[in-house]
Amino acid sequence: MKPYIFAGNWKMNHTLRETEEYFKVFLRKLAGRDFVDREIVIAPPYTSLALTSSLIKDTPVKLASQNAHFATNGAFTGEISPVMLKELGVEYVILGHSERRHLFKEDDELIGKRLEGVYKEGLIPILCVGETLSEREAGHTLSVVERQVKRGLERLTEISSEKVVIAYEPVWAIGTGVNATPEQAEEVHSFIRKTLSTLYGKDGEAIRILYGGSVTPDNVASLMSKPNVEGVLVGGASLDPEKFFKIVEVKIEKETLTECALPDYSNLDPSILEIPKNYKRLLIVGASPKPNRPSNIVMDYLLKAGYEVIPINPAYEEILGVKTLPNLESVPLEFKPEVVIIFRRSSEVLPVVEKALKLKPKVIWMQEGIVNNDAKTLAEAYGVKVVMNLCFKKVHQLTKWK
Ligand code: PEP
Repeated sequence: MKPYIFAGNWKMNHTLRETEEYFKVFLRKLAGRDFVDREIVIAPPYTSLALTSSLIKDTPVKLASQNAHFATNGAFTGEISPVMLKELGVEYVILGHSERRHLFKEDDELIGKRLEGVYKEGLIPILCVGETLSEREAGHTLSVVERQVKRGLERLTEISSEKVVIAYEPVWAIGTGVNATPEQAEEVHSFIRKTLSTLYGKDGEAIRILYGGSVTPDNVASLMSKPNVEGVLVGGASLDPEKFFKIVEVKIEKETLTECALPDYSNLDPSILEIPKNYKRLLIVGASPKPNRPSNIVMDYLLKAGYEVIPINPAYEEILGVKTLPNLESVPLEFKPEVVIIFRRSSEVLPVVEKALKLKPKVIWMQEGIVNNDAKTLAEAYGVKVVMNLCFKKVHQLTKWK
């Protein structure tokens, strides 16, 4: 397993004197500690790179730069090339940080070029991606992150998994004191992992994904407990050597994904849905035409019981001759379903719930393969009742599964 990464981004902070004082404290704390499962990386401002490089010699700390140009040299006033950074002992380069994207208008194209230059020089890019608050609220989190990952890496035809790192840094969590919940981070990290695996197969899947955004000694353990969080990128809290050390020395206890034991669906009695009789208009997301799948049993039952059902799966048009729609976006807003039933695993359920909420249902009923409270919390925040989630033990009892 590749080591976790604990990276500190000092941004435009710390003079030479302050850099020296920082390492006096930090290295004293580090002395005698053997962190075999993690790498410690610090990205000081350019002016402190050379000094930091000499101070961390023969210590486990690695050096990062906060940006880099793509060219080796040339007429690029104010820029620094990957070769120059390498000469100073830099190993990692932060690219596409939200402050570069938003304050300095670096776009995906430029970030992709910088990343190619850095990668070709043998430095390890830490590509930062993340949505703004308005993008999250509009339900665009995953599409924004997907675009940034794909455009950032598009110039690499092959990839070595140790040589690229992704940092998911939701813009609304950076420097705000409001971190993403571990569940929110996990949701996006597992989506990024899937995207990388589609792009580069096994090599893509093994790329380390860090979380960044208001990480502190108090929240680092819960963030790191998530299976797809393989390190953190820390801004504010990395400026204080004591605080950063507390983050670095966190005890990592990984949560394992708990697939809930789903019952034998052939015994499912759909009348237990107990959908109120006055609710007639239903939308089924993720309906599967395969026999004995819960969605199939539920669909069949609802149609027979006379509900007006729209399955989001065109396969049903042929099988049952009912009207279907290809995706949630194509459901007319005036349909206003009373109940949206979502058959999705937890890694996919949150964006689906976000989209479904726009249709203003009264109730959302979720079926999931993996326990995840996030979607439930989101729906409840919108005042939408969540009827069931088959994974919650309590619900198991409620539902009279055989
Ligand atoms: C950052 O700038 O990368 C960052 C995560 O900052 P903070 O930890 O201060 O939110």
